[in-house]
Amino acid sequence: MISKLASRTRKKALKKIKPKSPDELSASWIQEDLLYSGKGRALFMILPTIGCSWALSEAGGCTMCSYISDSFLEPVEASEIIEIFDNIISSYEFEEKTAVKIFTSGSFLNPEEFPLEAMEHIISRLGAMENVEEIIFESRPEYINQEAVRRCCELAGDKIVEISIGLETCNEKTRMIKINKGFSNSDFEMAVNTISDLKRDFNVRSKAYILVKPILVSEKRAVEEAVSTAIYAEKVGVDRLSFCPSTVHRGTLMEDLWRNGSYRPPWIWSLIEIINRTREKVSVPAIMDTSGFGTSRGPYNCKKCNRDLKKFIIRANLDQTLVPPYECECRSRWLAELKFSETTASTDIKYSEYS
Ligand code: SF4
Ligand SMILES: [Zn+2]
Repeated sequence: MISKLASRTRKKALKKIKPKSPDELSASWIQEDLLYSGKGRALFMILPTIGCSWALSEAGGCTMCSYISDSFLEPVEASEIIEIFDNIISSYEFEEKTAVKIFTSGSFLNPEEFPLEAMEHIISRLGAMENVEEIIFESRPEYINQEAVRRCCELAGDKIVEISIGLETCNEKTRMIKINKGFSNSDFEMAVNTISDLKRDFNVRSKAYILVKPILVSEKRAVEEAVSTAIYAEKVGVDRLSFCPSTVHRGTLMEDLWRNGSYRPPWIWSLIEIINRTREKVSVPAIMDTSGFGTSRGPYNCKKCNRDLKKFIIRANLDQTLVPPYECECRSRWLAELKFSETTASTDIKYSEYS
């Protein structure tokens, strides 16, 4: 059922997109970040590919993700990817310690999405760069096997190679039925174990992405699921956690529900609750992504506190500390929503209509 809906929404969205060249689909930026060795900076790069195989399949992809709309939808030649990557790398100075985060809108380890030749060029070039400490990329669990990980690590020299997996939640019903992710906890555990086994020979790590507030999940459950997922992921053996609060992407099932008043992105208060509870219960580093904060499509509280709280969360990410106490009148509305959220599920309550 969810696959059919996701696939229908996806097909509709793909009909609307204007074709872009691989070069236009690429992007890069640099920002302060937390490395395994402490504060440093991260170079983010988006490299063009055909798109995520899961989203291109009849399964229709995940209900919150629109990356396929930013993909080339045809295979991209290795030589073209290499040229784009080389141009990005030569446009930055690498005087400080840096993590390089490669985003391919899918799985870097799937050769059908990302050509092997391009992968080998990228990892060997980064492996030879003095101030690059970490090479980070994403993959679905089904592409994480001994051979693929070993191949990357051998090229990366002494750099940390971190593989990020979109676990999203430890609740299998939520992952299968609400997110349409298409893999189980045991698939995730196998992938993390493969990475952990290779730690004997290489500097390799794993990270779990945790989605905060998938569709059809109440505000209260969203907080509880995010915290229990962090505890679960640490137990399985991941080295780092990254919470991704939902933002409403165009052309997704999440957007359809949001447009109809049946979905509201998480409150920033919920995210603070998640960070502070996670810090008490989990010892691996945990980051809360702050993109889209304060917009109607992203996490928001009220105009008075959105900006301050975003700053506090960024600080708590870099220092791995708690978010300090803060008061704003909208907090009581959030508390009320938590209390009644099992009844309202994740609907978007328009307070102005009731006052
Ligand atoms: S979240 Fe990941 S696996 Fe799911 S559709 Fe997007 S890119 Fe593919
Ligand atoms: Zn407020």
